[in-house]
Amino acid sequence: MNLTLEQKSDIENAIKNKEVPKYLYKYRFWHCGGHKGPKQNCKLCERNRLILTKQAIWFASPSSFNDPFDCKIPYRYDLLNEQTIRKRMKELNKNVSDDEISNILTYNPIFSKDPEKRKAAYRNQSKIISNNYGIFSLAGNYKNILLWSHYADSHRGYCIELDAHLLIKELYSLLYPPNNVAIDVYQVTYQEEMPIIIPTDNKEEDLQNYIQILTVKSNVWEYENEWRFIYEKNTNLSRYIPKQVIKRIIIGCEMPDDDKKNIIRVVTEQLPNTQIWEAQKDQERFRLEFKQIQTA
Ligand SMILES: [Zn+2]
Repeated sequence: MNLTLEQKSDIENAIKNKEVPKYLYKYRFWHCGGHKGPKQNCKLCERNRLILTKQAIWFASPSSFNDPFDCKIPYRYDLLNEQTIRKRMKELNKNVSDDEISNILTYNPIFSKDPEKRKAAYRNQSKIISNNYGIFSLAGNYKNILLWSHYADSHRGYCIELDAHLLIKELYSLLYPPNNVAIDVYQVTYQEEMPIIIPTDNKEEDLQNYIQILTVKSNVWEYENEWRFIYEKNTNLSRYIPKQVIKRIIIGCEMPDDDKKNIIRVVTEQLPNTQIWEAQKDQERFRLEFKQIQTA
């Protein structure tokens, strides 16, 4: 899609205002959990390598996340005062009687003062979010030894450096205009306590509520320094990105030699302009060192 100059500058401003870093990172394993060592034609491995082989990125459903609190912050209808609820119900349906509203307030578990009773309503809310949002998560840096352990098969996998600005431009221009897009990028915020989300009928406040539900995590995850590309109204879908977005591949310090040969072959064939780097353990410090591999 060809954008006008004005549209292009809108996108530039969106990137600047959000202070999106120039590069963001995706840690990956080369082999799936089912097997170590080389194995031909494993479907799961193949799917995991699509970002290299087809330049496809995946917007995952929050239901697949490894943190059960992720995207599951509840709307606290129980904290709304009765007057507000009555007013809103009348706005939604002029014909609803006061008695009917009293009934709803008594029997709908979402308004219950008993947290046990609210649980079912919350599960339902989580399901709606999981079915309506797709998230492509990226990390803020490639040097974090814990992220290598958690997401790159204990350093046997690799990490991909993506040009985040180019990626945003690409995704925004698919779905211009940015203010109204079905996709946007957000930095995850980390907090000691779960935020309390009060439902609102104000559109702007409701959007802020949604952003909080989708981007606030416990501060034990702070080391991830995560950024999220969030796709609205759809989940579990893939999108192709241009090859230039993939700037660099960094091979984990524990990747077996056979795998290393294979990943170098794939990247050299598919992504001739992508640099290939390798992590090495600093023997005397809790730190990784990185050096470029010359393939030519
Ligand atoms: Zn596999």
